[in-house]
Amino acid sequence: MSRPTVAHIDLGALAHNARAIGAFMAARRGAAAPALVGVVKADAYGHGAVPVARTLVGAGAAMIACADIEEGVELREAGIAVPILIFGPFSLGDMDAVFDASLTPTVMTPTSARRLQAAAARRGVRLACHLGIDTGMHRLGLRHDNLARTVPEVLAAPNLDLTGVYTHFATADAPGDALFAAQCRNFDLAMQTLTALGVKGCVIHAANSGALLAEPATWFDLVRPGILMYGVAPRAFEGRIDVKPVMSVRSRVAAVK
Ligand SMILES: *Cc1c(COP(=O)(O)O)cnc(C)c1O
Repeated sequence: MSRPTVAHIDLGALAHNARAIGAFMAARRGAAAPALVGVVKADAYGHGAVPVARTLVGAGAAMIACADIEEGVELREAGIAVPILIFGPFSLGDMDAVFDASLTPTVMTPTSARRLQAAAARRGVRLACHLGIDTGMHRLGLRHDNLARTVPEVLAAPNLDLTGVYTHFATADAPGDALFAAQCRNFDLAMQTLTALGVKGCVIHAANSGALLAEPATWFDLVRPGILMYGVAPRAFEGRIDVKPVMSVRSRVAAVK
């Protein structure tokens, strides 16, 4: 028995949204517009990670990002060939898959850097990873005000290649929010500190959907919109960009009164 209720996923709308985001940035930056990271964590916000990732790569996404190693493995096994960035923390047991599936993990703590270094050394390979900076969201990442203590060890790790640096905003979808402004400042200062510590040649990224729409100064080299790609603009920014809902739920009307 099945109910006559179905969630439709419109991959054409998804590709349209990815192009609309590209056009929004190109209108302000021209050829210097940042590249797109397709955020497909949590099964692509319930839209189906593999078909969504394929569509986004087809629409020009330079990188795909997901929450954990298991999600990354599923995407790699489905043939996604672009770099796959893992946002979330990982445990020792997951480590093999980082190498087998060529995933790009995020260094979030000194301990995670040590584990990645040890695992890469055991295999005799170099591992590309991004550095996650906590600029005030207080979820994951190295503290922005403590980098001179934590980063030298990561830089000195002989088997780790730092290829990216990023932060994540808690409140970018609220115009004029003080925490968003503070996080922007903290990230700029963190980048200065990292440069002084010798970090170079990294891609820099910060913007989620809210920041992408609110503040071009957060765009850097890559942007990471999630909800906007699925067709939902944060309420304060509705109408600023032409995105279409990707999911629609349809059912049979049981009664009209
Ligand atoms: C979820 C997530 C995003 C995308 O956020 P949206 O608000 O959906 O645009 C970007 N970066 C990180 C680290 C995330 O976890």
